[in-house]
Amino acid sequence: MASPTPAPSMSIWKPDVIVIGGGLHGCSAALHLSMRGVRVLVLEKDHVARHASGVNAGGVRQLGRDVAEVPLTVASMALWHRIGELVDDDCGFESHGQLKVAENEAELAGLEARAAALRALGFHHEEVIGQAELRDLVPAIAGHCVGALVSRGDGAAIPFRTTFAFRRKAIALGARFEEGAGVARVVRVGDVWSVETTGGDRHEAPILVNCAGAWADRIAAQLGEPAPLEVIAPMLMITARVPPFIKPVVGASGRTLSFKQFPNGTVLIGGGLLGRAVRDENRTELDFSQVSVNARTVWDLFPVMRGATIVRSWAGIEARMPDQIPVIGPSGTQPGVFHAFGFSAHGFQLGPIVGRITADLITRGGTDLPIQPFHIGRFAA
Ligand SMILES: Cc1cc2nc3c(=O)[nH]c(=O)nc-3n(C[C@H](O)[C@H](O)[C@H](O)COP(=O)(O)OP(=O)(O)OC[C@H]3O[C@@H](n4cnc5c(N)ncnc54)[C@H](O)[C@@H]3O)c2cc1C
Repeated sequence: MASPTPAPSMSIWKPDVIVIGGGLHGCSAALHLSMRGVRVLVLEKDHVARHASGVNAGGVRQLGRDVAEVPLTVASMALWHRIGELVDDDCGFESHGQLKVAENEAELAGLEARAAALRALGFHHEEVIGQAELRDLVPAIAGHCVGALVSRGDGAAIPFRTTFAFRRKAIALGARFEEGAGVARVVRVGDVWSVETTGGDRHEAPILVNCAGAWADRIAAQLGEPAPLEVIAPMLMITARVPPFIKPVVGASGRTLSFKQFPNGTVLIGGGLLGRAVRDENRTELDFSQVSVNARTVWDLFPVMRGATIVRSWAGIEARMPDQIPVIGPSGTQPGVFHAFGFSAHGFQLGPIVGRITADLITRGGTDLPIQPFHIGRFAA
């Protein structure tokens, strides 16, 4: 008689880290941690890329950032230029530069001062160009524009494709994702965090990462940390296809604009004009008076667009901090908690590097990048 097959040994998978939020920042933290052999569980209340990370303009921009963000944006751009090596997908990333145009000499002088200020800090990626080069780079620009600030290594990518690529690679390296799993309560029990979902499930891990986007203040509040984020709804619109006429992404110095053409001919227009967000209902409302301000800017700067048809407009739900820079780094009040939220409408480009920073903080206890300006403790007073 054959001897019975031994029962397989059962081991229960337990995460080392629980990440709250499956936007780009949660997926990036999960990826970088998984690359180092850390077991990660991502809990997402809706589905991955449902919010800002899936519906944004895809701008991969170093240009014009707050000085505190410059070292991070430069480091992130290096990752974007090799994004395929990181996530096995090019994320639709194309680098044709980003420009901020000046419509008069006063605006151009402001851009020159900005470039000089960055040079003084040792950063050379922003350069001022005159009218002739502007016209070479953007032949369709209106005749009155006198020059621009350009960051030649910038570009754009496809947001939902990027976020899914980070998730896919994280899963391939062992991370687990639960969607439809909203975190209701976080409690410290001994030396672990106990996390309870709205469905009543409980998970435990020694480390918690708060990547909950426009809802992150609610997690922070449970940790006794004020995070005075404002919930905003940046709007975008897209046109029907028009013949290809522009490669770089264009913004404006004196007005709100982000303007780019996709390879299929459609043109995406935005830049940060706001609708209204109803975060408890996962809903946004457009403000058509602001949509028309955006359309007017395009009318003025790109006469070639005057006959274009707008086919769709939408808004996403985003967290804006009072000082317009994110919260990145360890909790100021609790052990084993790290934050990455409040990206104030420009967090897509920072996704690759902030996940790496979070993984560095957790696995090495520090990062080489200057993150002190982003500490949540700045709101404690
Ligand atoms: C219209 C628009 C255009 C933009 N354009 C650009 C651009 O061109 N370039 C750029 O760099 N940035 C841009 N941004 C900003 C960028 O999209 C965001 O900064 C970035 O995506 C934020 O990522 P996140 O992971 O922090 O947040 P999110 O993508 O919002 O992800 C947070 C996730 O956490 C989940 N969550 C919240 N609470 C809980 C909970 N309690 N339990 C479980 N899950 C929870 C949410 O459901 C959500 O999926 C734009 C934003 C918008 C809205």
